[in-house]
Amino acid sequence: MEIFREIKALRAYLGHRKKQTDTIGFVPTMGALHQGHLSLIAQSKAENRITVCSIFVNPTQFNNPADLEKYPRDLDRDIQLLREANCDVLFIPDVKEMYAQKSSVKIDFGYLDKILEGEFRPGHFSGVALVVSKLFNIVQPSVAYFGQKDFQQYKIVSVLAEELLFEVQLKSVRTLREPDGLAMSSRNQRLTPDQRKKAIVFYQSLLLTRQWLTEKIAVAEIIERIKKKFEAIDDVRLEYLVVANAENLKPVESVSIEPNTVILIAGYVGEIRLIDNLLLEE
Ligand code: AMP
Repeated sequence: MEIFREIKALRAYLGHRKKQTDTIGFVPTMGALHQGHLSLIAQSKAENRITVCSIFVNPTQFNNPADLEKYPRDLDRDIQLLREANCDVLFIPDVKEMYAQKSSVKIDFGYLDKILEGEFRPGHFSGVALVVSKLFNIVQPSVAYFGQKDFQQYKIVSVLAEELLFEVQLKSVRTLREPDGLAMSSRNQRLTPDQRKKAIVFYQSLLLTRQWLTEKIAVAEIIERIKKKFEAIDDVRLEYLVVANAENLKPVESVSIEPNTVILIAGYVGEIRLIDNLLLEE
């Protein structure tokens, strides 16, 4: 695996490889890799001649400085996992390399970045869009892989790529879960054993919501029940549970659910913020 820390060197290398008509698959990450990340790498490996992974904990997408500071980092282990996964290229820039000067660019997506994650993490998607744009410009991938776990992020990146004419095909990869259903996440590493047990409430709430929706229980009633479920467990806090149209993320209020519906949830276990989602037809 070739490892690059500098934009210039990576560009030169990939420019050369591209002349040999290689297709480049790209998996952007923030490191502390788990099987979910590795499933994106595996899909990219299966579909492209070269797979590039980036690890960059992007400061501009963190609205909470403590979250940024405590974000899990384990580069040696990540490199080992990527080597075992036969990843071809790893890009690990530092903050100075990616942000040579303080960014003045803000990217506004109208409705899409004000709701859900955007409501609770102001500025988050502008930071995501900024770093993804930079990475797309550097790597110029043929295909880029993102997890369904970050459902809203995939929508944001889709709008970004379409409106800014990035020549990249985007693919969404299904969420990998632990045996008890908890969505794999780098942040899970920070949970104590007790918190880890409690974290299952997120996936359970998604399953219950789906079941109640099929039983034609009103969305408002479902939200009340899930709120109560969270209130009954100490150390957990619900931020939102939203039933939305999976295309435009507009909330669905009525009981007659369209097939293309997604349930999105976010909240805290202790000070660790977790998100998850479930498509109705999954
Ligand atoms: P992150 O390092 O959290 O920024 O994630 C990097 C990429 O991996 C994003 O596209 C995520 O959506 C994706 N990802 C994170 N968790 C999972 C998971 N459990 N299953 C599949 N993909 C995931």
